[in-house]
Amino acid sequence: MKLLSTFAASPYDIADLHLFRDVDIASAAALLANCPVMLTAAGEAVSDPARPRLVIVLRGALADATGDGATTRILPGESAGEQSVLDGEADLSGLKALEASELLLIDADLAWRLIEEADGVARNLLRLLSFRIRAASMQLRRRQKLGEFYRQLSLNDGLTGLYNRAWLNDVLPRLVSTAHATRAPLSLIMLDIDHFKKFNDRHGHQLGDSALRIAAQLLAGALRPTDFAARYGGEEFMVILPDTPGAVAAGVAERLCERMRETMVFDDMRLPLPHVTASFGVACLADGQDDHALVAAADGALYRAKAAGRDRVIVAVEVAVTAQPAA
Ligand code: GH3
Ligand code: MG
Ligand code: MG
Repeated sequence: MKLLSTFAASPYDIADLHLFRDVDIASAAALLANCPVMLTAAGEAVSDPARPRLVIVLRGALADATGDGATTRILPGESAGEQSVLDGEADLSGLKALEASELLLIDADLAWRLIEEADGVARNLLRLLSFRIRAASMQLRRRQKLGEFYRQLSLNDGLTGLYNRAWLNDVLPRLVSTAHATRAPLSLIMLDIDHFKKFNDRHGHQLGDSALRIAAQLLAGALRPTDFAARYGGEEFMVILPDTPGAVAAGVAERLCERMRETMVFDDMRLPLPHVTASFGVACLADGQDDHALVAAADGALYRAKAAGRDRVIVAVEVAVTAQPAA
């Protein structure tokens, strides 16, 4: 930055500076008379950024990246660094000239004198800060919403809208440890659409996708609000039933199996396609079992449901053992 002149010797008018709008101009101008007017080249940072002070743009433009990532443009008449003056904590390193610019620099001590002695400066400063806070919190809210959106996106399956594998990997271990800690039952249903490869081959991948969406809707619609449905992979789904013993989960699986069998999938001509069925494996968390073992148990039962002819529910052996009344 290069010193050009004092403010008094410069061609600029104090009435054009936002901070001095409706202010007693004479007293403010007297205080500002000896403040330096500096020339900055395009891309140049404000020198001595650790010094609290007001920086007012007289000509050109500054970029202010002092905030949390969002850059604002500061145009002629506007200022930066108000907060550094108020709290004495300067970090003006984010201020850079966007083009060759002339800046008025007002040191913190003098800025305080202006606040105290020039009628109206304090009011303008408050108005400015309130505007900045509002803009910053709006930005924060926008970012929170965006963050939430992306979080949702990364935890939900794009085709069906159900939770995805990433969600399962995160949540299932926690549900398992809660169930162990509270000694509450936890059941898992794994289901896989039957002969789905044939369905795709016969009716095309797009109708296959519709069938998957319909299956997902059926699952989501048939469960209690405390249960969870997730897409485990391709045409495999998982239903998690907290606080639910194996025998009850088996009943839920039977109901889902029945509904799946009865559900219609339509093609573009609104003609019903052959019904889609699914096979179900049910497991209930056993003592000392971790989430992997629980999934393996449900998967084993599902495999047996396929082997036994599909379109049916099989309950994992462990459940049959633990479900028997104690002697
Ligand atoms: P099974 O009764 O033994 O489960 O037979 P299957 O044909 O359903 O099983 P297989 O694992 O041989 O085939 C699964 C099929 O699921 C093959 C694959 O193309 C289809 N599939 C997986 N994901 C999607 C998807 O997102 N959309 C569609 N349309 N098809 C999918
Ligand atoms: Mg299948
Ligand atoms: Mg499969």
